Amino acid sequence: MAQMRRQSLVKFDAPLCETIIETPKPQGSEVLVRIERCGLCHSDLHIQDGYADLGNGKRLDTTRGMTLPFTLGHEIAGVVDDVGPDAPKDLIGARRAVFPWIGCGKCRDCLNGDENLCIRNRFLGVSIDGGFATHVLVPDAKYLLEYDPVPVDMAATLMCSGITAYGALKRLVDRPRQRNLLLIGLGGVGMMGLALAQAMFKQPVSVADLSASARETALKNGAAVAYDPTEADVVKRILKETEGGFDEVVDFAGNEKSMAFATSVVGRGGKIVVSGLMGGNFNLPMVQWIYKRMTVEGFMTGTLEEARELMALARAGKIKPTPMQEEPMTDVQKWIDELRAGHVVGRIMLCN
Ligand SMILES: [Zn+2]
Ligand SMILES: [Zn+2]
Repeated sequence: MAQMRRQSLVKFDAPLCETIIETPKPQGSEVLVRIERCGLCHSDLHIQDGYADLGNGKRLDTTRGMTLPFTLGHEIAGVVDDVGPDAPKDLIGARRAVFPWIGCGKCRDCLNGDENLCIRNRFLGVSIDGGFATHVLVPDAKYLLEYDPVPVDMAATLMCSGITAYGALKRLVDRPRQRNLLLIGLGGVGMMGLALAQAMFKQPVSVADLSASARETALKNGAAVAYDPTEADVVKRILKETEGGFDEVVDFAGNEKSMAFATSVVGRGGKIVVSGLMGGNFNLPMVQWIYKRMTVEGFMTGTLEEARELMALARAGKIKPTPMQEEPMTDVQKWIDELRAGHVVGRIMLCN
């Protein structure tokens, strides 16, 4: 029997370690994918921790229903190795990106196409075994997306950082009186957001990040202005330069400081979409919220339909490549540590 290797979570809040099992045989409509690439995402770190930070010393337990060893990783692209009896045989050998935000298929949200909202979800690398491995079992062939001629690294990152950035930006498209757009937090998702925003919006795209190297990379990749949120009087300067603030803001960091910054630079009638999950708590004076008539919307992942729209944009050459770095899959823990330490610009792509 063939064997597969996984970089497994064997204990929460502890380094991953390699486990070896028999490669599963796909049943029913399942598909077995041999993994070529899996991107490393910030949310992998939260799952490894076993909790999310709710602020004020409170934590949300994220270990519920997870059995160890568990395989993290949800930005997957690979080659179809085997298919179950109810899946199309001619898929074997096809190179595909894997949509990971898979629902139960039966509930109201799933039937509406909002599988990403499903409470009994089967998210790859989050609820069921994912991509830090040689193989992954996908529940149905419909979750595989053709990506040619998009490079494999980009195809994989589109499945999380891509779809998250795309979905967040989509919630700002077609709003009235759009003059400008600000993206806060330039990690993997933020950099992808910068690439997508240039394809989705006519307005110049400004960015803000604590890291000087991230700001420099963003300017090289098409950002009009890059702000350092810690600069003295930066809010005053922004309100002046933008004549009243930004109409659209995406917070890709999602912590107390980034949201405080977002709410202070959003203009009257503006909207903030928050998709970062760094955690913590944030306070907003009611008066400021209402005086500014601001809208704040939370957003996470995306639907299969949005993944298809995004892939179509990429295949049409409308998305500029984002910074990526290929590293061996077996070094995943080392890169988790680097990402935690804030030493990573762009996306780490783990390769088999
Ligand atoms: Zn992710
Ligand atoms: Zn469901």
